[in-house]
Amino acid sequence: MIFGWRRRKKRRRGWAVAGGLLLLAVLVLGPRPQAEAPQPALALALLGKTIVIDAGHGGFDPGAIGAGGVLEKDVNLAISQRVAALLRQVGATVVETRTADEALAESKRADIYRRVEIAEQCQAELFITIQANSIPQQQYRGAQVFYAAGSTEGQGLSESIQQSLGQVLQNTTRQAKSIENIYVVNKLAIPSIVVECGFLSNPEEEALLADSRYQQLTAYAIFLGIVSYYSEQPVAVSSEP
Ligand SMILES: [Zn+2]
Repeated sequence: MIFGWRRRKKRRRGWAVAGGLLLLAVLVLGPRPQAEAPQPALALALLGKTIVIDAGHGGFDPGAIGAGGVLEKDVNLAISQRVAALLRQVGATVVETRTADEALAESKRADIYRRVEIAEQCQAELFITIQANSIPQQQYRGAQVFYAAGSTEGQGLSESIQQSLGQVLQNTTRQAKSIENIYVVNKLAIPSIVVECGFLSNPEEEALLADSRYQQLTAYAIFLGIVSYYSEQPVAVSSEP
């Protein structure tokens, strides 16, 4: 029973991603008469959902810095703004924690608290923080999504986005992973996840992350993963007029 369910889930997710890839082709190659607008099923899945897109770092806090000088805060903002724009196109209410190169408070700690506060105040259903990774070794690369250990919804969302990143970017086989002791992930009651878009410590990936076309592809993969996650959720039907 559980296997059948899991398999069906996977296939449906695959279809959503396939539909999204068609949309991607439309965006990249230009409009085709048969696909002028997002498919109704994709659009409906996100309609009225409030989603926080959090561009990590900003202002005094650059985040990681690549060997070539690329700042994580800039990559995070560029990808976040693209994700936000795509989500709005299909009717989601998107709250961005920042839309400019600025911190949300004067200290790192207060800045993080403020991001969580924003999600609580707007009663968001999802909190997605966009980040880029950096470690001492140069060879590691690939986008990876993290969720709070024990969060089934967070795991579902993360796996959905991870699968989409794998299919769209075609350069990683990383798997979504649980993580502990991350304030924004643990503090919020809603599914709250971290998308590490790649490694600034890998020179090749640093160059990709700074490239606007790659930023758009990454954003599109994240968007598709969110759509795919929602398309698997039961649709709430209201009896109110
Ligand atoms: Zn970061």
